[in-house]
Amino acid sequence: DTVIDAHNVSKVYNKDTIPVYAVNNVHLHLERGEFTALVGPSGSGKTTLLNMIGGLDKPDEGNIYINGQDITQLSANALIDFRLRNIGFVFQSFNLIPVLTAKENVEFIMQLQKIKRKDRDARVNQLFKQIDMEEKLNERPSKLSGGQQQRVAVARALASKPQFILADEPTANLDTKSASNLLDIMARLNKEENITFLFSTHDQRVIDRARRVITLVDGRIVNDTSVVSTSHME
Ligand code: ADP
Ligand code: ADP
Repeated sequence: DTVIDAHNVSKVYNKDTIPVYAVNNVHLHLERGEFTALVGPSGSGKTTLLNMIGGLDKPDEGNIYINGQDITQLSANALIDFRLRNIGFVFQSFNLIPVLTAKENVEFIMQLQKIKRKDRDARVNQLFKQIDMEEKLNERPSKLSGGQQQRVAVARALASKPQFILADEPTANLDTKSASNLLDIMARLNKEENITFLFSTHDQRVIDRARRVITLVDGRIVNDTSVVSTSHME
């Protein structure tokens, strides 16, 4: 199954003066179950590309098919609904709601989907088990470490049962141990639940965990390398 099929995607800033191609004629194809890193220097277009793939930003040129749907053709309301069902987002700064507990931050998404309380509870318990945070359900984000907050953000991203997670620099604010722990959880979700991940990163230790690495420079893909599996050596 194809998750992402992006054709000729470009984003141009400053069209009226000196145009800047933040993303320049990118083609990108991702299959279900991939665990892919998007890398490149600061300003190379990673955030802009992820935002367009996630439907948070519109390309100036090109089409982006997510699970077969061209999201560039959806109305604003249809796009919100499509995103909720198809794409989970994880951001570098966690973006949890501070006045809600960890559990409420995750449950909130299910309330938007009008999922019944009993089903919500079951799914919350399952998700907190998957992120190894069962004992922190009722803590506010301020009581959690950065790594724990990011794990809650992953659970929130999965609350509406998308099969695909987009993460923009998810480990940028984490120490080495927390970053490694987050990658363990992401890799486990990838392996056991077949969740597809596309994440941008600067961190070599995170890049080393990816199975495919796509490099952007000046808005263009300059390298796309699939890593031969080494799991038989582990
Ligand atoms: P990265 O995530 O790789 O650091 P970005 O996608 O943030 O790269 O930025 C790519 C390029 O587009 C940079 O040159 C950046 O300055 C420019 N850019 C990004 N957003 C805007 C914007 N809203 N207006 C003008 N230029 C922008
Ligand atoms: P990143 O952490 O990916 O490098 P930045 O810090 O470059 O992101 O950008 C943060 C935000 O500022 C983004 O939403 C981006 O679109 C916007 N931005 C980046 N460059 C510019 C720019 N030259 N002009 C206006 N907005 C920009």
